Amino acid sequence: MSGLEDVRDRIAAAARAAGRDPAEVTLVGVSKKQPEERVRAVLDAGHRVFGENRVQEAAERWGPLREDYPDVTLHLVGPLQSNKTADAARLFDVIESVDRLKIARRLADAFSETGRPLPCYVQVNTGDEKQKAGATPDETDVLVEECRSLGLDIRGLMCIPPEDEEPALHFALLAKIAERNGLSGLSMGMSGDFETAVRLGATVVRVGSALFGERDDG
Ligand SMILES: *Cc1c(COP(=O)(O)O)cnc(C)c1O
Repeated sequence: MSGLEDVRDRIAAAARAAGRDPAEVTLVGVSKKQPEERVRAVLDAGHRVFGENRVQEAAERWGPLREDYPDVTLHLVGPLQSNKTADAARLFDVIESVDRLKIARRLADAFSETGRPLPCYVQVNTGDEKQKAGATPDETDVLVEECRSLGLDIRGLMCIPPEDEEPALHFALLAKIAERNGLSGLSMGMSGDFETAVRLGATVVRVGSALFGERDDG
């Protein structure tokens, strides 16, 4: 599986160049909208950590696939609606898109019902873009504090930089906000910029097309 090997090699090289241990970086294979045979090929090559951006699509795909590959870890990387949080808390192992208090409350409720561990990331809208999910950099400290007081297991922060800006600036900003909040997890970097993200401290990279091939976004 050359896509997988290539991405793993590039993560390892970027980590070493920054004096980091490649094992500190988790590769999340973002399988949204990918044909099942590509996903199975990556599974058969031994990869086990995947990301999806929609709860319903993820349930349809991974319900059956998990019967064949029960040790898969699933990350939710897309925005969460409050009526989907209970489903999400059952299906996913990690929620990367906690972006407001209402969602944090619902996740905390779901967690207290299931008792299933649910590591979470707060999504930060580092570019302050109107159309994009996430707490603004100014709101993030308060949201992290609220999540903690609800008992959520906040591991770190996640961002998706604006398409037309230098991603390194946004990765550095995310790292700074995480540091001042005592958080060590940084989910940042996608197909076009994951090496930059690893150099700037990413502990999670979310890679879709570079791993599986171009997806049909239509
Ligand atoms: C689709 C998606 C990715 C992967 O994007 P690629 O450019 O294909 O690597 C990563 N993160 C999020 C939040 C996504 O929605």
